Amino acid sequence: MKADLVIKNGYILTMDENFTEYKNGNIAIKDGKILDIGENINYEADEIIDAGGNVVLPGLINTHTHAAMTLLRGYGSDNPLKVWLEQYIWPVERKFVSYEFVKDGTDIACYEMLRNGVTTFVDMYFYENAVADAVLQAKMRAVLCTGILDFPTPGAKTPDEGIEKTKDFIKEYKESRYIYPCIGPHAPYTCSPQTLQKAMQVAEDYDVLFHIHLSETEHEVQDILNRYNATPVKHLDNIGVLNDRVLAAHMVHPTEEEIYLMAEKKVKISHCPESNLKLASGIAPVPKMIEAGITVSIGTDGTASNDDLDILGEISTAAKLHKGYNKNPVLLNAKQALSMATREGAKALRLQDKIGTLEKGKYADIIIIDINQPHIQPMFDPYIQLVYSAKSTDVDTVIIDGKIVVRNKEVLTIDKSEILQKAKKWKEKIICGN
Ligand SMILES: [Zn+2]
Repeated sequence: MKADLVIKNGYILTMDENFTEYKNGNIAIKDGKILDIGENINYEADEIIDAGGNVVLPGLINTHTHAAMTLLRGYGSDNPLKVWLEQYIWPVERKFVSYEFVKDGTDIACYEMLRNGVTTFVDMYFYENAVADAVLQAKMRAVLCTGILDFPTPGAKTPDEGIEKTKDFIKEYKESRYIYPCIGPHAPYTCSPQTLQKAMQVAEDYDVLFHIHLSETEHEVQDILNRYNATPVKHLDNIGVLNDRVLAAHMVHPTEEEIYLMAEKKVKISHCPESNLKLASGIAPVPKMIEAGITVSIGTDGTASNDDLDILGEISTAAKLHKGYNKNPVLLNAKQALSMATREGAKALRLQDKIGTLEKGKYADIIIIDINQPHIQPMFDPYIQLVYSAKSTDVDTVIIDGKIVVRNKEVLTIDKSEILQKAKKWKEKIICGN
């Protein structure tokens, strides 16, 4: 059979459960999917990419961000959380968030993520139709939800309106191969139990993910305890919305009991270490959660609190953070860290049958990393060197659904000069206040 595209001479890390590798491997791609993979396969193809011994990996997965917040990158940083939110972020969002703001901001985010090897991301923001338009133009994959809150947002005056708009959004994109709609109640301190229950009902009815910020700060834990006499995870369980559809961002302060509860209910986590450090939220007990059997993936959070969308950098931070914090150098090893950004990321999104590993039949979301760099060589172990030495800028080629979207470190689907203009335009607007 003839393939559409063949990658040859790759040092392939499939990232499957057995960490299968092909040291001089080939991948044949047809109709956007992996047709065959291995060392001794031979296919004719319309196009052949010679990986030249470089490392070939599944596309990276960012399981929590607010993409359009690229337009607020660095804005008001280094202030106390309350000041940062109340004096910087929220006033700008109230004034400026619109279809145009979200589209322009997400274009910038998509450029940055493609350049960094991210092929799928999860977004929670407003005007998700603008995010979907940006994602489709960039030729990426994304799991998208509108943030639902009990007070008026840029997209909805009430939580019920947010839920209704989410239903429409789900219906519009339910069959898409690129956009995976989901429902996004913002957090237990911004959503009443009724809002959370209605949101879970939609998740069940339409078979989608339930994405929420959960147990991010000590302040949140205390607030939920005061209001509901339960810690955040327990609270969700008490009101009947803790199950395997939940993708919880942050999870910095779970109790021991909550860790076991989440493992039992198959809750998925998006660990956002750099945001947690920058906002001084604390350090999530990731090794304990993994040991308990919880699926832990990795997210950048928005660029206003990170301040980049660099998943390789994020797993490098995670791998070192938990060793240092726990004074134990064997915790979160390189294979585990890289799994968080690939296989475990796919599981967190319930897309493990489609993406996250390089296996026959899965979508051809593939990246090639240029390892012939002085800061990577000599390469004793590709997992270790990818996590501790490689930079996101070493990503040379990105293929999504069998189509080349980054080649020779150049993003092909987004015009760099155009998005730089947009970034400058929004900076002027935000500074002038109109
Ligand atoms: Zn967030």
